[in-house]
Amino acid sequence: REGRRPLIAGNWKMNLTHLEAIGMVQKLAFSLKEPELEAAEVVVLPPFTALRSVQTLVNGDKLEIGYGAQDLSVQDSGAYTGEVSGAMLAALACRYVVVGHSERRALHGEDDAVVAGKVQAALRHGLVPILCVGEGLEVRRAGEHVAHCTAQLDAALEGLSAEQLTGSGASTGGGGGPGSGGGVVIAYEPVWAIGTGEVATPEDAQEVCGALRSRLAERFGADTAGVVRILYGGSVKAANTAGILAGPDVDGALVGGASLDADEFAQICRTAA
Ligand code: PEP
Repeated sequence: REGRRPLIAGNWKMNLTHLEAIGMVQKLAFSLKEPELEAAEVVVLPPFTALRSVQTLVNGDKLEIGYGAQDLSVQDSGAYTGEVSGAMLAALACRYVVVGHSERRALHGEDDAVVAGKVQAALRHGLVPILCVGEGLEVRRAGEHVAHCTAQLDAALEGLSAEQLTGSGASTGGGGGPGSGGGVVIAYEPVWAIGTGEVATPEDAQEVCGALRSRLAERFGADTAGVVRILYGGSVKAANTAGILAGPDVDGALVGGASLDADEFAQICRTAA
C-alpha cells in the first residue's frame, strides 16, 4: 500500500457525553507515541454534541489526532429540524464525516441517492467523506457481495470526478499529513460483521476491498484508484487487526465497539503504525 497512509477511525456511534469524550481523547493522546501517530492516521468520530470539546482539546494541546462526524445533512442550511450541515462541521474544523453507514441506511432509510447527496455535501464543504458500503448476510450467502458493494460504490460516487475522489488540488479542513490525501475514503463494512463479534476473514476483507479498488480503476484509472484509501470495518479488535490489515488493498479500519475502550483502540492504532 505504497503512498497510502493507514487510517484508523473510531466510530463512537451514540456513546460518550462531551465530558467523557474529552477523557477518551486524553487517554488516547497519552498512550500513543509521536512516531505511531505519524505512521498511522488516528481519527475519532464522536457524536455531534462532543465535537466542539474534541476540537478545543485537539487544538489546545496540538494533538495529532483527527476528528470528524458520523453523519451530515444533504442540505447546507434551512428548515431541516434536527439536521447538521457540512458547513457547521467544517466550521468546527472536522476533517472527516461518515456517509452511508449501514445503521443510517437500515434505521433511517438512507438510500443510494441520499448517500450520493451526502458525499456531494461533504465535498462541497471540504470534508472527507468516509463512504460505507457493505452487504447483509442474505447477499453474502447468495455470493453476490462483490456485485452489491460495487453497485453501492457506483451509486454513491455518481457524477464524481477523479479530482474529487482523490482531493487533488482541493483544500480540506484539518489536514491529515503526507499520504493522507483528501478526497473520499471508502469503508467496506459487511453488515453481518458490524457489532456482532463476527469479523470477516482477512481474505473476505481483501476480496471486497480489492474489488472496490478495481472498480475505481475502471472508472477513474489505476493511478487514481491507487491513492484512494479503502478501510475494513466490522468487529475489528486489537487481536484481529494485523490479519485484516495484511490485505494489500486494506488501508486501515473503521472501528465501532472497540473504539470505546481507549487501551484497545490505542493497540489497534499501534498495530496499524
Ligand atoms: C461500525 O459500526 O462502523 C463498526 C465497524 O462497528 P463494530 O466495530 O462495533 O463492528
